Order: sequence, then structure tokens, then C-alpha cells
Amino acid sequence: MMRAEQLNPEACYRALQTRDARFDGRLFVGVTSTGIYCRPTCPARTAKFENCRFFPSAAAAQEAGFRPCLRCRPETAPNVGSWRGTSNTVSRGLALIAEGALDGDEANVEVLAGRLGVGGRQLRRLFKQHLGVSPIAIAQTRRVLFAKQLIHDTRMPMTEIAIAAGFGSLRRFNETFQRLFRRPPSALRRKTVSSLPEGAVGAIEGTLRLRYRPPYDWPAMLAHLCAHAIEGVERVGTKVYRRTVRHDDQLGTVEIDHLPEHESLVVTIRFPCVRALPAIVGRIRRVFDLGADVAAIGAHLAQDPLLAPLVAERPGLRVAGSWDGFELAVRAVLGQGMTVEAGRGLISRLVRLCGTPLPSELCVGTKLMVSFPTAADIVGANLTLLGTSNARKATLMALAEAHLAEPSMFQPLGMIGDTVARLRAIRGIGEWTAQYIALHAAQEPDAFPASDVALLRGAAGLDCQTPSPAGLNDRAEPWRPWRAYAAQHLWAADAASRASRARPSVRVRATADQTVIS
Ligand SMILES: [Zn+2]
Repeated sequence: MMRAEQLNPEACYRALQTRDARFDGRLFVGVTSTGIYCRPTCPARTAKFENCRFFPSAAAAQEAGFRPCLRCRPETAPNVGSWRGTSNTVSRGLALIAEGALDGDEANVEVLAGRLGVGGRQLRRLFKQHLGVSPIAIAQTRRVLFAKQLIHDTRMPMTEIAIAAGFGSLRRFNETFQRLFRRPPSALRRKTVSSLPEGAVGAIEGTLRLRYRPPYDWPAMLAHLCAHAIEGVERVGTKVYRRTVRHDDQLGTVEIDHLPEHESLVVTIRFPCVRALPAIVGRIRRVFDLGADVAAIGAHLAQDPLLAPLVAERPGLRVAGSWDGFELAVRAVLGQGMTVEAGRGLISRLVRLCGTPLPSELCVGTKLMVSFPTAADIVGANLTLLGTSNARKATLMALAEAHLAEPSMFQPLGMIGDTVARLRAIRGIGEWTAQYIALHAAQEPDAFPASDVALLRGAAGLDCQTPSPAGLNDRAEPWRPWRAYAAQHLWAADAASRASRARPSVRVRATADQTVIS
């Protein structure tokens, strides 16, 4: 792991000289003679060693007074900052900042720290230690880089880019760019932005590339999404994933495709309000696990000789995130104790009963029809036609009411203990389901449900005997802090070994687990 305090200039310079792509996203170089900072892969001539300063994040380079290179475009480096070091607090803080937690006039570090369960001073100290900069500097850099990407890759008007990127005003946006680049933002726009339709004023209608650090097991990700897709809300093709999006009671769609030659996902967003852009992009990053440095994670897991062959077989396996915490909880509660297929059928019926229909112009060509119901939709619905037990309906209703009473309950990156306690108070939600929902809503990279039947079976393949949950927990200790990835490998191994035998036509699930690639 490369922490801010551990950058070795000689090693960094070697990475730079060889344009080593393995350091892309982990290392940035500021050149004192030009005032510009670059990715290690920049095609420009390598600067002299004495003119180079090395930084663990784009924000650190920018805070030191360097401006982003127009050639290698640091804003397009894979965003793996959240995986540096082992601080969960820093990872969660970065993800919240990426979604705009420090944008706007009321936002401040104390509030952010409170959401993460630490004090403001401690949060600043952790950021300094792991990233070499303050949370505020990270937020400022994020705004500049996100705006720069929108300028380059879309034809959105500058006023809307200013808003979408989280600048409070056009004036602040212009001032920031003038100071950094010594020219107005519009001067950075390429003449040849092609094929990107400009949407109606105030709306998003555009395509962005989101880069990841390879490898990426796209077929496994699509297979997972396909196995759990809800009719009308999601649509998984042979290559493309589409779904409806709801944000602040407005509806839109996203479409995600894979460009392996560019190590990127291509994201097409249609949404009526530009302010939602960081939140929507943040969600896509989470669902598709774009921030994970799977090569580094795999290297760590492969130190266990029994995991090594699994990692070698599926090096690009990632942990699919949930689109929305409440949606995840509804899926878990309705799918509990039934086959994946039966669970999907029940959830689809709920969506038909009380989801909000999509405006017709968004349905054309997408086969998307409806948004996933909110807690208010469910509370206001007549569930007699849902076709499930009264007990299950009551649990669903109680879940929706609890969420209405406490909207931050399923906040991504939230505090797992609080969420478990709140869920356990709902009749019909057991400890296992509560843990499952809390861990997945929080996107905890170290989540490890050791009592999961399929996980125990997968682990049996390692040692030729089925371990007890306690035994598996002990076994998994060295896999920290990435046990969720180890679980993904064990599940995949179990699914593959079952598929190679006669595959049963119906799989009855003992748990509400939804993360098996079936
Ligand atoms: Zn460069």
C-alpha cells in the first residue's frame, strides 16, 4: 500500500520512466518547471528527476499548487484512492465526498465526520495520513476534475457543468478555472466533441467514460445483474445494462456498456436535473465496483495458497454493489427463504403494484417502464394482490415505515451497527437478514457472512471438508480487509463446481443472500 508518508521518490521515478500503468491512479507527478501534474502514464517527455514531486492523489498534487495536465488528463485516471491504505473511515469518507457530501454552502467536515462516526480532527488526521491532504482539498479537486471531464466529454453548457460538478455558482467555477488553468473553462473544450447529444437546458443527456483499473470480469458482473434483474426496472442485454433511476423524486435512466480496450465503462445518463449527476455517477461507481484495485486485492488474497488458484482463474472478479439501500432491503425481505426465481417474481409483482411509471419518452428503445417503489409508495399501496403471506407483507410494511421515520437508515457507507439494531427491531427480520442488509447497504469490503451455506460449500472445496462458520471465520482472518472479495471467489468456485455437475433446475435458498452468481 502506498500511503502519503511512504512514497519513495526513486521508486516513483522508475515507475514514471517506464510509464508503468500499474501506478495509474495511485501515483501523480508534479513537475516544478511547468507547474503541471500528470499521471505516470503521460505520453509527454519525462521530466528531470530533480523537477519531479510525487503525490499519492490528484488532490495532493493540486493542493501543492500544480494544475492538471491537458494531455494525460488526470481526471480520467482510475479512481482507486479509496483503496489505498486500510482505513475504512477514509474509504467511506472519499465515497461520500465523491457524491457531493462536501459541496454546497452548508456542507462541512464536522458533519461529514459525524456521518462516519468520528470527530472532525480525527478525520482530518486520517486523511492527512492516508492521502496527504484534507477532506476539503479532496472535494475541491473532485469538483475541478469532474467539471473538466464534463467540459471535455460532453456539450453541456458551462452554467450546467458548474452546477453538476458541485460549484455553488458559475462565478466560483470561472474563478477556479481561471486561477488553475489561466484561461476560462470554455477554452478547454475540444472542438471535436462528437456524437454527444446536448440535452434540454437543465437536463442531463450525455455519455461519460468511467475508467477502472484492469482486470474487470464484465461477464461475471453482467451475469450477477441479470440473475437479479427486476422486470421493468432493469434490463440486461448480452452486453449492456440499463435501469431506471430515481433521485429526489425525479426519474431518469442509465445505460452502461463496457469498452475493454479503453479499460472503461461507458455510461449514458438521461435525467431531468443536472444537480443529480455526481450522485448518479457515484452510484454507478459503487454498483460496478469501479474503485476496487482488484490486482492489489488479488495479490493479497493469493498469499493464501488455497485461494491463489481461484484468484488466478477469475482475476477480475468484483463485488457488485447495491443501487439503493432501501431497494436492497426490500429485495432481501421479499426474497428470504425462497428460490432466486420466486423472489424475483414477487419483487416484480410489487413493482407493478406500486412503482412509478416512467415518462414515455424514457421508455422508448429501453424496455424500461417503472421505477422501484419508494417507502412512501409501499406504505400507500394496497398489498392484497401481492400474493404472499400476511406475515411477509407486514414485515415489508414495517420496513417501509421504519425507513420513512428514519431516512438515513440505509444510507450507503453508513454505520453498520446502528442499521442492524434498527432492522432487528422489525418483526420478521432476523439477525442474518439484518446483517446482510446492513453490510451490503454500507458496501463494506470486509463483509463476510461466514454462515452462508454456499460460502461454506465453496470453502469446503479448498480444504476438502466443510468448515463450521466459526472455523471459516478463523480461516478468513488473514483475508482482511478484503474478505468480501474472498467470499466472491468462494461463491464463484462453488457455482462453477455445481454447474459442472448436473445442475439442479430449482435452487432453494436457505438465506436471503443475493450475491451468488447463479
Ligand atoms: Zn501529462
